[in-house]
Amino acid sequence: MAKILDESDRNSGVQAHTLLPPESELGAKAIENLLVEKGLVDPVAIDAAVDAFANRFGPQNGAKVVARAWVDSTYRSWLLKDATAAIASLGFSGLEGENMVAIENTSEVHNMVVCTLCSCSPWPALGPPPIWYKSPEYRSRVIRDPRGVLAEFGVTLESHVEIRVWETNAAIRYLVIPMRPAGTDSLTEPELAALVSRESMMGTGLARGPGGR
Ligand code: FE
Repeated sequence: MAKILDESDRNSGVQAHTLLPPESELGAKAIENLLVEKGLVDPVAIDAAVDAFANRFGPQNGAKVVARAWVDSTYRSWLLKDATAAIASLGFSGLEGENMVAIENTSEVHNMVVCTLCSCSPWPALGPPPIWYKSPEYRSRVIRDPRGVLAEFGVTLESHVEIRVWETNAAIRYLVIPMRPAGTDSLTEPELAALVSRESMMGTGLARGPGGR
């Protein structure tokens, strides 16, 4: 049942529909209204962009790609050869994902991705990049000390495993295919996808095991 606001709620600022958003948000809204009013932008296009970021783009998409590659060797080969087309075939394509390259982790090689200049990442497959990916610390350190950075993410690889760091940019976006965890032979494709984190597809994590670790 809805709560009726009393005097103390009003004094503490809990007032339905009356809390003002931050000034930056108001400013953005004012600019949007002005552009729409003047016919310079189509509100339908704005809704579509908001919907893409809120609902359509995200690591759940990349996880489906990885799970498919784990269970279907033909798809895996296609993904490694033409990632843009293979990923688009599952419905994930468009802005910031036009030129994809998939790189595969093995027992010998672990791949990591960085954009040293800014924060380029494959939006349709992984969504907008996380804070750590944009941080100057990650961008500068992962090149010279990938093993140390990995350890800070809680990942320790055996010393014989080579770490390759791939520099992404506006033209090429990488998707790391993490190794399939042991003990997952009986899992379905959606169950496998649930083990694949965004970090595992950027190289700062591993796919979780079937027990959640
Ligand atoms: Fe960038």
